[in-house]
Amino acid sequence: MKACLLRTPARIEENPIEIEDVATPHPGAGEVLVRVHVCGVCRTDLHVIEGELPLRKSPVIPGHQVVGVVEQPGEGASRFSMGARVGIAWLHKTDGTCEYCRRGEENLCDSPLFTGYSVDGGYAEFIVAPEAFVYPIPEGFPDEQAAPLLCAGIIGYRCLRMAGVSQGANLGFYGFGAAAHVAIQVANHWGVDVYASTRDVRHQRLAMDLGAKWAGGTVEPPPAKLDAAIVFAPAGEIVPEALKALRKGGRLILGGIHMSAIPSFPYDLLYHERMVRSVANNTRREGEEFLALASKIPIRTRVQLYPLSDANRALNALKNDAVPGAAVLLVDA
Ligand SMILES: [Zn+2]
Ligand SMILES: [Zn+2]
Repeated sequence: MKACLLRTPARIEENPIEIEDVATPHPGAGEVLVRVHVCGVCRTDLHVIEGELPLRKSPVIPGHQVVGVVEQPGEGASRFSMGARVGIAWLHKTDGTCEYCRRGEENLCDSPLFTGYSVDGGYAEFIVAPEAFVYPIPEGFPDEQAAPLLCAGIIGYRCLRMAGVSQGANLGFYGFGAAAHVAIQVANHWGVDVYASTRDVRHQRLAMDLGAKWAGGTVEPPPAKLDAAIVFAPAGEIVPEALKALRKGGRLILGGIHMSAIPSFPYDLLYHERMVRSVANNTRREGEEFLALASKIPIRTRVQLYPLSDANRALNALKNDAVPGAAVLLVDA
């Protein structure tokens, strides 16, 4: 099969992804082989490729927002019929036995495996995954529309839940990429007002198009005090800026898997019971909940399509804020 391989992490400007022919994987017990139609491009892929997350496997096929169809079940796998349309997300597998898994917090599992990081991902024609960690994709979403829901969408949803906002709340978004452009649609559905702070003017425009109450630069104070804010951008220097915009008791949620160092800041910014919390992965239950909500709203993702062979170009565009919405690789066009 054709696949994109990362051997050694490097700056994306050096185009480190190579497209090659590799053996098609074989589904093991309890796994399914999925023929990939599309795979969304996520900021985390960039963190893996550029070495901000330590390499777990080499070569590795990146990609963890996979939409395709079940091609072949492994031994004992019976959850999906052949040809069923499914999605594969970041969480490839958990141990199911650690204290976190036992407590229903599998997103914090002590020994997790991640798609496109610790095991091969979806920048390829085929992928295998345990059927228990595969999502049915609701009808009504074309493949490329569904792909960004699988990470950007689900993680954004977890961030929204952590933010604890309800109707009438003022919610800040810092960074307005793939996750924010989905999360704003959920926020609007709940009657929450979104204030979008992002350095790129095109992203500010997209935020306004999607119903933001206000959009401006990252150090511009929003016109209202925020009940909560979510930092989607991987830039630690945003944290004190966002804290300045929070009301007393407000919550600041950090949505990324990696962030540059957070500069020191006066305690006053945190005092009055403001809270900072990171978000790590998601549980399958949340994923299912979000996909159901996404089809009810319905969420409409804005996607920029690239052929699989242009993975480097898509990732360069993502790094340069040149993707309005989400980038998606067309594998089986
Ligand atoms: Zn566990
Ligand atoms: Zn992701």
